[in-house]
Amino acid sequence: MRLRLSGVAPHGAVLTRRKEFQVNEVNNTTPAANGFDTLGLAAPILKAVAAEGYTTPTPIQLQSIPHVIAGRDLLGIAQTGTGKTAAFALPILHRLMADQQRAGKGHCRVLVLSPTRELSGQIADSFRAYGRELPIRGAIVYGGVSFGPQARQLQSGVDVVVATPGRLLDHLGQGTLRLDRTEIFVLDEADQMLDLGFMRDIRKIIALLPAKRQNLFFSATMPREIGALADELLKDPVRVAVTPVATTATRVDQKIVFCEAARKRPVLVDLLRNVATERTLIFARTKRGADRIAEHLERAGIAANAIHGNKSQSQRERALGAFRAGTCRILVATDIAARGIDVDGVGHVINFDLPNVPESYVHRIGRTARAGAAGTAISLCAPEERGMLRDIEKLIRRQIPRLEPAAEPARKAA
Ligand code: AMP
Repeated sequence: MRLRLSGVAPHGAVLTRRKEFQVNEVNNTTPAANGFDTLGLAAPILKAVAAEGYTTPTPIQLQSIPHVIAGRDLLGIAQTGTGKTAAFALPILHRLMADQQRAGKGHCRVLVLSPTRELSGQIADSFRAYGRELPIRGAIVYGGVSFGPQARQLQSGVDVVVATPGRLLDHLGQGTLRLDRTEIFVLDEADQMLDLGFMRDIRKIIALLPAKRQNLFFSATMPREIGALADELLKDPVRVAVTPVATTATRVDQKIVFCEAARKRPVLVDLLRNVATERTLIFARTKRGADRIAEHLERAGIAANAIHGNKSQSQRERALGAFRAGTCRILVATDIAARGIDVDGVGHVINFDLPNVPESYVHRIGRTARAGAAGTAISLCAPEERGMLRDIEKLIRRQIPRLEPAAEPARKAA
């Protein structure tokens, strides 16, 4: 049963198109817990939240914001789409404005670490949007763009730095930024950091932070190493868990198409012509694979862009911009590049290749059904991928319905 949110509800959270919040079950019906104005946030922040069109806090926001304002450490088990960015950005902005301090030259008051450039950009955008009424200065630090302008910005002193680990370490090594006066440390998407091999970098960065600080730790899943890091890092944390991975998967209409690997491209073209007519995100396992799919679609007369780690920052931004604006409705991405892509209205996700990590399947299909919209995920499964499919179905605890490919038109398209 679906009910409108009227209290704290840790599971089954969905953001709807109307920017309200719905949950599958309600386990606490305190009426006062319903609006942002009950969370203790300062007026300029509430004004910015209202300007964003948010009327109701999401469960992670309800459960986190008062504690973060109070200075507690936080362990948030949540993935993108739950409103977790605002769950940390809003109370952080509140704390920054409360004491009116400014960051010293070459220092930052808040450090947010995120695994990818895209996600860092989105987090920085959120701080900008929620902090629009405040004199807060922020900087974004990631690789693939020139070092100098970032260094100059950091040296002037910024309140909030949002960074990916590699480029941040470069700045720390060059002395353009110091962390010894940082008051709040946010580690976002910790499990992705682990997958991307950032654990050593993260430990180096943590070692440079002062002992007395507030820590906010977010991860969609809790593999052993991440659990251990959280234990080391967090002091008496508040724990908040929303939308467990398997629950997310139940909201998306999923289908499997069995076909030989060699038939995947024509089947894809057929799906894009006949089934997936809305904005569609296609996942490929490799960068080269993503390029080849986009090229094949172009040849078939279907406009498509690819994004992955080998594309320049401006190419990635252009592709994302066209996708967001709807001028190019098809984006082919690798898992890493797609991480954190925050585009509402992705109608379809197509898994051209199945991911070999079953959790990635859930992350991928979570790109659709964002903001509560009904989404469809279609996965092409070659005979050699059946083992991966079994692992995925075990994780989501259900069998994905099979869809028969429309064989004839697809064959012609080949
Ligand atoms: P996140 O989980 O931080 O990636 O947020 C997912 C999306 O939800 C973003 O597009 C936010 O702008 C949006 N969002 C965050 N909080 C709310 C809210 N309380 N009401 C409506 N939309 C929200």
